[in-house]
Amino acid sequence: MEPSLPRPMGGFATRAVTGAVTVPEVHQHPSSAGIWLASTWGADRSADIGELLLDEREGYVYGRYDNPTATTLHGVVASLNGAPAAWSLASGTAAIHATLDVLRGHGRVLATSRIYGGTFALLDRLRRNAGWQVDHAPLSTADELGLALTEEHTVVHVETVANPSTHVTDLAAIASVCRERGVALVVDNTFASPYLCRPYELGATAVVESATKFLGGHGDVVAGVVVGDADLVERVRRHTYELGGSLGAFEAWLVLRGVQTLALRVRQASANALTVARALDGDHRAQPVRYPGLVHHEQYALATTMFGGRGYGALLSFDLPTRAGAEAFADACEVFVRASSLGGTHSLVLHPASTSHRQLDPAGLAAAGLGAGTVRLSVGIEDPDDLVADLDRGLAAADVAQGDVA
Ligand code: PLP
Repeated sequence: MEPSLPRPMGGFATRAVTGAVTVPEVHQHPSSAGIWLASTWGADRSADIGELLLDEREGYVYGRYDNPTATTLHGVVASLNGAPAAWSLASGTAAIHATLDVLRGHGRVLATSRIYGGTFALLDRLRRNAGWQVDHAPLSTADELGLALTEEHTVVHVETVANPSTHVTDLAAIASVCRERGVALVVDNTFASPYLCRPYELGATAVVESATKFLGGHGDVVAGVVVGDADLVERVRRHTYELGGSLGAFEAWLVLRGVQTLALRVRQASANALTVARALDGDHRAQPVRYPGLVHHEQYALATTMFGGRGYGALLSFDLPTRAGAEAFADACEVFVRASSLGGTHSLVLHPASTSHRQLDPAGLAAAGLGAGTVRLSVGIEDPDDLVADLDRGLAAADVAQGDVA
């Protein structure tokens, strides 16, 4: 039997307004979280609002702060990361900005030089416009970090796997140096997702992730999360209240839908990526192939340990002899979609030198571990045979475009 109907009071217009927001009390377990689109929340007593704002009682006040759908997301994301608390923001970039701002205090930020281009642009803007002091250095090992870290640094920012070089960071070693030196460590775990790697358990102060990628997983939402201890998450929460940028309820709900199949998707994408990487690795025209799951990858052993044997992720890159060859490869693909982003159900192909890394000159490209002929693939969950057939199409087109060079 349906719960008893709401009985709004008053005239026609009043009943229309009040009746439309009367929510039945549900004491059951729905198969999907609710989408709470409320921009503001009424209280039983006026004094309650002040107490809510002062965190003297639990509840919701205003849509810019939080909403119950996001609270559900925070719970599941914290749990999957093995961390006490989590918070969500409107993008991965917003999560990185808020987390670094909270942790840096007035000190310098030390960020990996093998960094996602958007994070580089974010830090560069903050350096130019907001007085942040930011240094970049290779930070994949304890030795590299030891060389670059100074007394002035208060926070270190690294990525689990670098894009598109697929260089893997030794997170436990980095975390141990940061702990010894009393410096906070932020790990961008976007490329691995908590299914493969849980940097909080390895000693990171905070883990940030673009939920636009594996957590959402279906190419239909832009979102970011941060996880850490309760104190850090509380500080990021307060920062978000004041600067804006919390995640909306609908976006939180889309991430919640995606998260339910995270393990299945990452497992399948990792298996497909290994098939694709091995197919390319066996072809003399695509060399070198960079994928942490290939035994000749420089950090194969580290990735095997750090990812617990659960897979090696969906991202790989390889080089063709020329830029024209790489562009022809991408243009010939019929299953891989030519697009930026990663971590979704669809396979994507990208030519970094003309897209994500277009600002870099040849020296800059080399420093980022790529060349004009580098191709990056984000492998999805399609049938692997169709993906391998697409590689053949791409390589044949590259042959034609490259003429004698290949
Ligand atoms: N971190 C990494 C490693 C990324 O690849 C991206 C986006 O591609 C981001 C952060 C930024 O995420 P968002 O686009 O959700 O802001």
